Amino acid sequence: MKILLVEDEEFNLMVIEEMIGIFYPDANITTATNGQIAYEILQTKSFNLILSDINMPILDGYELIKKIREDLRLQTPTVAVTAFAIQGDKEKTLLAGFDGYISKPIDMGELEVVLDKYLTNKNSAES
Ligand SMILES: [Mg+2]
Repeated sequence: MKILLVEDEEFNLMVIEEMIGIFYPDANITTATNGQIAYEILQTKSFNLILSDINMPILDGYELIKKIREDLRLQTPTVAVTAFAIQGDKEKTLLAGFDGYISKPIDMGELEVVLDKYLTNKNSAES
């Protein structure tokens, strides 16, 4: 399955990529360091799941989800991964169009639940 991982901090990108690899060693992970780069990738490639940071330069997670849903008209499951832990942030991301929310630092169990939920049909985008 194909995962698009959007995160501006190199260290976080590496950690999340490794975590995904533990649960799904065969996952095909594409990375983007901001929403604009992700948006450009999404114009030509499809994914089973998008994991996106919120706080990013150039184009943040909220602007990216808007482009995914309204501009590209993609229904690809997209989960926000954010350090914001304030009450209400989860609701805000869901209202913006995200399908789910994972808080940073990432809990392995929480990540596994999300991956299993959206990658259950493991061979669907294997091409
Ligand atoms: Mg960030």
